[in-house]
Amino acid sequence: TSFNDMGIKEDVLRGLYAYGFEKPSAIQQRAVMPILQGRDVIAQAQSGTGKTSMIALSVCQIVDTSSREVQALILSPTRELASQTEKTIQTMGYHASIQAHACIGGKSVGEDIRKLENGVHVVSGTPGRVCDMIKRRSLRTRAIKLLILDESDEMLSRGFKDQIYDVYRYLPPDLQVCLVSATLPHEILEMTSKFMTEPVKILV
Ligand code: AMP
Repeated sequence: TSFNDMGIKEDVLRGLYAYGFEKPSAIQQRAVMPILQGRDVIAQAQSGTGKTSMIALSVCQIVDTSSREVQALILSPTRELASQTEKTIQTMGYHASIQAHACIGGKSVGEDIRKLENGVHVVSGTPGRVCDMIKRRSLRTRAIKLLILDESDEMLSRGFKDQIYDVYRYLPPDLQVCLVSATLPHEILEMTSKFMTEPVKILV
């Protein structure tokens, strides 16, 4: 399969080709279609497999830019990863006018509030700051249809478990969830059984 065969919107394809990728990586081949079909997905994959572009591509494809509400939320274990994901979505979603913002610790809360008030389609963040923004009601969750948990095993080993569950409680009931993790220890499987329905499992 090529990116063309995947039914990706023209303006998202333009963003994708800006990267010069010739064909989808294994994880992109196997995870993007189930996500676009609305399935919950568990992807066991390390960094370096093209998982960030897989996430960005899926998110850019499902966002409806006629609304200015947050529709996709990505949680990451580190500020660096959350920022990298934000930037990949901004580049890939540039021609589609997709607005993404990173909510990460150590940056100005006021700036987060301003950006969220102006309206963004996608939030990429670390669990603590995202939880804070939801509780301040700056981050409105009612239109969120897709939650992506990136490097989930890292998030748990950094002690973010309670904050992830906390964020999850504020999200709509018909939420679609995609979990990416290098390993699948017991605590991750516990999370998948709480958050997901008949997930598609992918190992790359
Ligand atoms: P990641 O696993 O998302 O950190 O990506 C690792 C590296 O692979 C990054 O430098 C990406 O730009 C690159 N990459 C991602 N997808 C593709 C692709 N389909 N073809 C070639 N390179 C890619």
